[in-house]
Amino acid sequence: MNDTQYTWNNHINSCIDSYLQSQICIDSYIVSGSDNSSNNYISSSICGESGNSSKNEDARTSDPIIRESSTDLDVTQKYRHLWVQCENCYGLNYKKFFKSKMNLCEQCGYHLKMSSSDRIELSIDPGTWEPMDEDMVSLDPIEFHSEEEPYKNRIDSYQRKTGLTEAVQTGIGQLDGINVAIAVMDFQFMGGSMGSVVGEKITRLIEYATKEFLPLIIVCASGGARMQEGSLSLMQMAKISSALYDYQSNKKLFYVPILTSPTTGGVTASFGMLGDIIIAEPNVGIGKKKKKKKKKKKKKKKNVIL
Ligand SMILES: [Zn+2]
Repeated sequence: MNDTQYTWNNHINSCIDSYLQSQICIDSYIVSGSDNSSNNYISSSICGESGNSSKNEDARTSDPIIRESSTDLDVTQKYRHLWVQCENCYGLNYKKFFKSKMNLCEQCGYHLKMSSSDRIELSIDPGTWEPMDEDMVSLDPIEFHSEEEPYKNRIDSYQRKTGLTEAVQTGIGQLDGINVAIAVMDFQFMGGSMGSVVGEKITRLIEYATKEFLPLIIVCASGGARMQEGSLSLMQMAKISSALYDYQSNKKLFYVPILTSPTTGGVTASFGMLGDIIIAEPNVGIGKKKKKKKKKKKKKKKNVIL
């Protein structure tokens, strides 16, 4: 009985070995896409049942797989700029057609991030966009001291990277032939954070819309208030809210915020939630605070108590 069990175990083990071997070869075939070498490995591993031959296979197969995968990586690096990876399903979308499909993932339909310029181009009638307060630049009002990089230098680098002066673009344009006042926030510029310039630009737009009796649209994409400007950035929440109160309650005009991924912090706490109708993209991240931050704060508090 023991003998038969032993031989059965041996047989099962060798079967598993040969199966795994064939799987490795099939994987390498998919990675490399070449027929000759991998076919040989597959046939030899399936046919060769003895332990010795499979060990030899190991030594032989390990080299080509490494070489093939490294060349494969080089190729993906080379053509990386042609593709956009989805944040939701990690599927690849061809960049050439991505803009015409309104930044929607082909595989899962997820709404991917869009720059403010792309959104203006997409939603406003061509040739009708008139920007406002384009030359307004943030100073360093509280002389924020950072060991990593001074606040002013950070703004400079973001201006060079995005081609924008601040994290929001405001202006007047036509939407399907109707004049609208529109503000579009840009997450690429310091995480769309709301500093004094962002607050001032939006407030001026609301005041202009109130004066001219225009409908107002604000596309939100923000990580919240800008910490480098301290309480000055928090004051923008109240400033915008009071301008909106005049616009909505006194003049009875129409305001629509559009929430895109992510809309958090001070923006959610002020103009993001004050709309007559609030539109949000599907599966968009909306909140006041991130969960991780809460956990950290709790831990800190515990330490203080102990
Ligand atoms: Zn996707």
